[in-house]
Amino acid sequence: MKYNAWFQCSEGCGETYSLNEIIYRCQNCNGLLEVKHDIDLLKHRSAAAWIELFDKRYMRTPYPYGSGVWGKKEFVCPNIEDHNVVSMCEGGTNLFWAERLGAEIGLSDLWIKQCGNSHTGSFKDLGMTVLVSMVKQIRTEGTPIRAVICASTGDTSAALAAYAAAADIPAIILLPRDKVSPAQLIQPIANGAVTLSLKTDFDGCMAIVQKLAERKDFYLANSINSLRIEGQKTISIEMAQQFDWEAPDWVIIPGGNLGNVTALGLGFLMMQELGIIERLPRIVCAQSAKANPLYQSYLKEFKEFKPLHAQPTIANAIQIGNPVSVQKAINILKQFDGIVEQATEDELANAAARADRTGLFNCPHTGVALAVLLKLLERKQIQSDDRVIVISTANGLKFTDFKIGYHGDKLNEVQPRYANLPVECEADFDDVMKAISRCLDDED
Ligand SMILES: *Cc1c(COP(=O)(O)O)cnc(C)c1O
Ligand SMILES: [Zn+2]
Repeated sequence: MKYNAWFQCSEGCGETYSLNEIIYRCQNCNGLLEVKHDIDLLKHRSAAAWIELFDKRYMRTPYPYGSGVWGKKEFVCPNIEDHNVVSMCEGGTNLFWAERLGAEIGLSDLWIKQCGNSHTGSFKDLGMTVLVSMVKQIRTEGTPIRAVICASTGDTSAALAAYAAAADIPAIILLPRDKVSPAQLIQPIANGAVTLSLKTDFDGCMAIVQKLAERKDFYLANSINSLRIEGQKTISIEMAQQFDWEAPDWVIIPGGNLGNVTALGLGFLMMQELGIIERLPRIVCAQSAKANPLYQSYLKEFKEFKPLHAQPTIANAIQIGNPVSVQKAINILKQFDGIVEQATEDELANAAARADRTGLFNCPHTGVALAVLLKLLERKQIQSDDRVIVISTANGLKFTDFKIGYHGDKLNEVQPRYANLPVECEADFDDVMKAISRCLDDED
């Protein structure tokens, strides 16, 4: 069976374009494009047969189908030839029962989806494997693309640099100076990308990258390119799979440019349409109070949306005031009885640290989602026996400076309630024993 997908204008005019065209907006009306699949063709296979196929491939060897993304290739991007796929076996991340954290906060069925346990340490890998594979296919077909380019808050550039390096395609990265963590800065450098550090914020980098992308020989890898959303859709498909093809009651996800919340919803909708799941979860989008344009719009029942100037926040990957996927995200949230909630610097840092003490190691964005979970529980919008999945978007090891700052009480607007500083001791048995006793007594 030859499955098919294409770009389609998402703003009513309905114009379609082939996925191997170098195009990001509709030529008729400048609307954003989205990827559409031939659902009727996909329906030729029964839900049971899709489930059997996906389960057979999941995390096994035959390339590229062991990847969490390419194992669902027919739902993601069937147009890419297998030999053009650039995969580093992304996806397949653990979804675990956070038993102790759940017990502490009064939620018996709390799960964390560790999307940061991925090749470059964030969920951005899931979309980038699709985009870079398409670029490889376009180049193989003879269209000259000199480089892939992106503006980034840190994780997009890490993923783009790694996948471009694996495919031997030059990458150009624009980063806001002093606004990404050292780990995020070193990733594209190590992978050999042309890394440009600009004296501006993310939105400033984005403005320049969009001008660069007017040249047809640069291929834009930011999330305005909806190919990435197709790969990220596998987050919801994989979570359903990990629960034997059932949706949870709630999914909480941090949102900046709002591509990931869109992808999450699209994955669930596609599964529902094909009969793979019966019901949809409710989706909660969690924003930093320093960069909360979607939250502001939610308060007005999405009747209007105003971009704003994002303030500096510890959750730097979601410091975005003018999210590119906002209309798509609003569309999704309306279909999922969605909620948008925000978290302050103090709330996100303490939520991350509190959860760390139960064995996690959270990035600040996951901290935003956890802080929002606490609010919804307190308000009893989420019930104590609901099944809740929190999407952890990046690996905490990328954000050690945040954690050191937290435990050393060096973060602006944060009062650390779970600080745990190293105790300085003499190299002396009695001194060490005394320190241990003091610390353990403190715990009681
Ligand atoms: C990109 C990113 C987000 C935000 O995702 P959007 O699709 O921009 O909403 C959240 N957390 C981390 C760690 C990210 O890298
Ligand atoms: Zn159009």
